[in-house]
Amino acid sequence: MGDLEVGALLEVPFGRQRVLGLVVGLSDASDVPPDKLVEPIASLDITVPRDLVEVGLWLGEEYCSTPARGLGLTLPPGVGGGKKIRRPKARKDLLVELTLGGREALGGKGRLGSRQKAILRAVSGGPRAARDLSAEAGADRAGIRKLEQRGLVTTSEVERMRRPETRRIGAPAVEVELNEAQAAAVGRIVDAIDSRDGSFLIHGVTGSGKTEVYMAAVEAALDRGLGAIVLVPEIALTPQTESRFSDRVGEQVALLHSRMSAGARYDEWRRLFSGDARICVGPRSAVFAPIRDLGLIVVDEEHDPSYKQESDPRYDAREVAARRAEEAGAVLITGTATPRPESWVALEHLELPDRVDGRPLPPVEIVDMRSAGSGPLHPRTLEAFGELAEAGGKAILLLNRRGWAGYLVCRSCGHPWTCPSCDVSLVMHREQGLVRCHHCGHSEPMPTDCPECGSATIAQVGAGTQRVADELERLLAPLPVFRMDADTVAAGSSHAQVLGDFQAADSGVLVGTQMVAKGHDFPDVTLAVVLDADGALRIPDFRSEERTFSLITQLAGRCGRGEGGGRVLVQALSVGSPSIVHASSHDSVGFLSGELERRRDLGYPPFSHLIDLVCSAPDEAAVAEISGVLAAAVSGSLPASAEMLGPAPLFRLRDRHRRRLMVKTENRPATVEAVRDAVERTAKAASSRGVAISVDVDPQ
Ligand code: ADP
Ligand code: ZN
Ligand code: ZN
Repeated sequence: MGDLEVGALLEVPFGRQRVLGLVVGLSDASDVPPDKLVEPIASLDITVPRDLVEVGLWLGEEYCSTPARGLGLTLPPGVGGGKKIRRPKARKDLLVELTLGGREALGGKGRLGSRQKAILRAVSGGPRAARDLSAEAGADRAGIRKLEQRGLVTTSEVERMRRPETRRIGAPAVEVELNEAQAAAVGRIVDAIDSRDGSFLIHGVTGSGKTEVYMAAVEAALDRGLGAIVLVPEIALTPQTESRFSDRVGEQVALLHSRMSAGARYDEWRRLFSGDARICVGPRSAVFAPIRDLGLIVVDEEHDPSYKQESDPRYDAREVAARRAEEAGAVLITGTATPRPESWVALEHLELPDRVDGRPLPPVEIVDMRSAGSGPLHPRTLEAFGELAEAGGKAILLLNRRGWAGYLVCRSCGHPWTCPSCDVSLVMHREQGLVRCHHCGHSEPMPTDCPECGSATIAQVGAGTQRVADELERLLAPLPVFRMDADTVAAGSSHAQVLGDFQAADSGVLVGTQMVAKGHDFPDVTLAVVLDADGALRIPDFRSEERTFSLITQLAGRCGRGEGGGRVLVQALSVGSPSIVHASSHDSVGFLSGELERRRDLGYPPFSHLIDLVCSAPDEAAVAEISGVLAAAVSGSLPASAEMLGPAPLFRLRDRHRRRLMVKTENRPATVEAVRDAVERTAKAASSRGVAISVDVDPQ
């Protein structure tokens, strides 16, 4: 098998199966008796870079997962074990090359049919793929084989790398001259790349030209022979970012995300691994891109919660990026208009205080819903839409609730319609004639009468995106209304499609959930509206204020980027909340200073680390019992600086009762270890009672 190195992938016998093995360390001796040791069957011709092996092992520990799951994130896409080793197939092309004899034949010696002549002529300028020849010269495989038998051409197989299909969004990037703030930021970053050390937060208002700074930094890294990773929060945003980067640096950009075909992912991974591509653009999983000589990691829109993976291993790509950068001697750049308190205290700030075009940020008006009627739109908001319908222009409306109505309740007896598997209300979806659970996906036909009292009067309480889009359509006709939420995506119109249609329209309204606030740049949006802006504040979570502030500020950022200027309306009930007040004056520094003070008082991140433990099972008594056992085990082993809260009940989800423990700590490594220990000690009792325990370090 030759010399093995860390990162080698092996086929290993395991009982009757063959499993995939990854070499994480080498040793001359073993504690395992010799007869229990096995020889690997084969070694794959593809390996995992050594630094990624270390990241994978670290991640398994850090997030209380297992080494295998941590390492699983670093494998080439599509490569895995099971009964057999799986890996994507490389795609081959048949390359056809003219021989000397072929050249002579073309010159007139020897008899050739017209099609044969066409083929020889097509390859006379150099080798060509058989695939191209069939379109161009009508060549089929049999025809080519005949020519080969006559010695007129030779053929060879070569690999053809698959590239993801990307649809260009927006015009080709033009070279711009950096303004003073951008140039200062780039200068500082380039110095850091040269000294191979530095972590930055680019705090730039929306439209301040952050992407230009990233691109200049990436170019500087390339100039020094170093590679770069650029993380974006949404797969939907990758084509846009990828095209901006490829316009600047060409073929060296690779794309990695889960909606690409398996073959293209595998090929892009290998293009990075071989060094043919030096830059990777993608969502959180691209933090594991196999780039050698990594010089830079960019985390765009670093406030976005999608950087956290919500299934095991529950890693945070921002933390992994910081770790990888540190190990590789790479520079870390995160950027946003609404920094997280965590980055604000940890990273060196680079400020981009103004929009590039010198336009002011749009004025924000808080609309107090305590003085409104019963509809979802306040008279002030209706008035603004009326003006838009008259004057033309575009508007974006954000409502973080999809469906038609929030919930249904019987007007006669008060019976609520709830999910049989989860303790939540069913949401009405009028388009499909259904009520649906947004947690487990359960759905049933729209009820016509109450199962308790038979009454046919059912109240539809609250409004979702469907209802608001419908209402605006009626009010503003013929102004077109576009909707973008998880339901429209499920129904087959991608984000890119809806955004493209909205962009192409002369005027109109885009209605949607938080995805309408992300990243895009339409110069002709003059009105932005947030409904139920404080909806998140009613959820008991210490990040609610931060979320609310960033949602409003990011949406405001989509507005007033063109000549027509813009305005923002924020409908809310708790109009005095710090997040809403500070968002209305675009004051992130003010917001952060208040928020940090509050977090310090309460001992929340960044002044501590949190670990969530959730026990769940169909049997409520079992959950109560095991969460008690777990709580005792955890609290008995925590280091002195850590504190445990709970167990507290969570709402029932997918037929499982749940209880949560929360641990707050200043000593993260010792606490993670103590928690892992406690979970291991409780595992047997838990499994005998059918209770699952999940651990989430840095929960979002
Ligand atoms: P952000 O990411 O901060 O919202 P972008 O980097 O997307 O901003 O820039 C917004 C727009 O401004 C883009 O169309 C970009 O090409 C343009 N732009 C950026 N920097 C400059 C500059 N220095 N001069 C002129 N236009 C610029
Ligand atoms: Zn009833
Ligand atoms: Zn449900």
